[in-house]
Amino acid sequence: MTRTHACGALRGDHMGQTVTLAGWVASTRDHGGLIFVDLRDREGIAQIGFEPTAAPDAHARAKGLRAEYVVAVTGEVTPRPPASVNPNLPTGEVEIRATQLEILNPAKTPPFEIADSSRVDETLRLKYRYLDLRGPRMQRNLRVRHQMAQATREFLDRDGFIEIETPLLMRATPEGARDYLVPARTRPGSFYALPQSPQLLKQLLMVGGIERYYQMARCLRDEDLRADRQPEFTQIDIEMSFVQQDDVLDLSEALTRHVFSKVDIDIPVPFARLTYQEAMDTYGSDKPDTRFELELLKLDDVFGQTQFRVFSQVLTAKGTIRGMRLPGGSSLSRRELDELESAARQAGAKGLAWFQVNPDELKSPIAKFLSADEQAALRTATGAEPGDLLLLVADKFPLACEVLGRLRLDLARRFQLIDESKWHGLRVTDWPLFTYNDEEGRVEPMHHPFSSPNPEDLGMLDTDPLRVRGQVYDLVLNGAEIASGSIRIHRRDIQEKVLAAIDMPAEEANRRFGFLLEAFQYGAPPHGGIAFGFDRMVAMACGEDSIRDVIAFPKTAAAVDPLTGAPAEVPPEVLDELHLALKLPPAQEKEDTRGG
Ligand code: ASP
Repeated sequence: MTRTHACGALRGDHMGQTVTLAGWVASTRDHGGLIFVDLRDREGIAQIGFEPTAAPDAHARAKGLRAEYVVAVTGEVTPRPPASVNPNLPTGEVEIRATQLEILNPAKTPPFEIADSSRVDETLRLKYRYLDLRGPRMQRNLRVRHQMAQATREFLDRDGFIEIETPLLMRATPEGARDYLVPARTRPGSFYALPQSPQLLKQLLMVGGIERYYQMARCLRDEDLRADRQPEFTQIDIEMSFVQQDDVLDLSEALTRHVFSKVDIDIPVPFARLTYQEAMDTYGSDKPDTRFELELLKLDDVFGQTQFRVFSQVLTAKGTIRGMRLPGGSSLSRRELDELESAARQAGAKGLAWFQVNPDELKSPIAKFLSADEQAALRTATGAEPGDLLLLVADKFPLACEVLGRLRLDLARRFQLIDESKWHGLRVTDWPLFTYNDEEGRVEPMHHPFSSPNPEDLGMLDTDPLRVRGQVYDLVLNGAEIASGSIRIHRRDIQEKVLAAIDMPAEEANRRFGFLLEAFQYGAPPHGGIAFGFDRMVAMACGEDSIRDVIAFPKTAAAVDPLTGAPAEVPPEVLDELHLALKLPPAQEKEDTRGG
């Protein structure tokens, strides 16, 4: 029996035709005489009827069908009786009167219902991923992913980009995460690093005269997995020669628009533009959700002369006082205010000052410490109206902004300020080239050490590195970072200076990146690029919160694959061959990585 049609393809036009379908049994209903089976394949569901008198053999076999049996069925396409027409199903007008049934493979009872796995424990879904993939959600998500990947290739190909694969076994690239290492059997004691990104290789491709490169690149980073990370993920990786920042960003916006348009999502261009400083000042985030307003305000001037110690001390220490006005927010209960305050503390603030705006007073535990003039100035500076809530944080600049930035998102959700049907894109430019790592007490690159300083700031590289702006940029969509990149350094002397600014001794720089520094001496063209987080883009298009739901075989938050049981132990002889000896932590309990 060879399949003639897809289950989901049958329509009224097929009426009277004899068809053969193949697929999985989605459900069966035995009405005494008549047996109905919903048969599912990739394209949808068809209803099959088995009659005891017209087709006794097929009917007898249909009695034994269970969920997920794989079968082939031949029969005639007939109209459904009016009472069982299903307008919600594309195939809802028709039904197949079966004449033959072949069971291609029986199935054990699946551990969860294929049609709706949304409430199933994720580890179980992942252990039986092949069953999860059969369901409508993953079928749709993987198709959307495919369409977006195709659209990416179509767009970049049309624009003169060449797709080039770069190796997975290579030297470490510093993207700020830990490397996955692969021991080199042929060179005992040496390791390959799996790429955190093809950053250095794509730069070498530019030195190699490729001019426009892209790759759907797999990147591997061994980091503690936050909710939305995966040890391996996919970037749309792009590099271009002889370009300025705006060339890369214009192309990236157009690519974003094209890729989403192929899955019927209209992303308006041009994107809004903010510098990093503006984004932090206005929204308290370097990836602000700009679908709603609720902007932060700088209130240093209001409290310039204040006697209130908490504020005056912060200002003396060159900190800042930032605030936010939540229209109608004075309806928040005391408990809700306490929750906001503890959220602020969790985000690192020492406290959160709040003011309920009444017609004739500001109600707040700290109102008594503020003069009438200060209160009036606070009202004016924030444009407060009766019924509003004012929230203030006094701290160091980035922290004060970040804390309010988080509350801003929290409140937007609580007050439903976000129009979920909107798509709002943003370019964030002029990132600082470096940031100060408080914990480790050192200057480190904000992006990676190959990004070019803004030429105007070159003079500050040795004297005041933290004030140097980079030609570094991000694309943000609805508050999610979807891409980031930079114009690169293409001269050895500047690259050496930047590595020196992050305290990398020349000898180490040479050992790790000598090949790049050398390449820069053989006619490296000016170049720049960007990389998109492809999984995130697909998740957004699918309306999924987690990128795991748009990856065929993802890992759990513990970086484990419950399906195959990776990572797994290896036999001692394999270790011997690799010249490796294990040094396990004494208390390590043996975990069963197979899950379930
Ligand atoms: N390689 C960078 C990253 O993975 C992106 C880029 O600069 O193109 O973040």
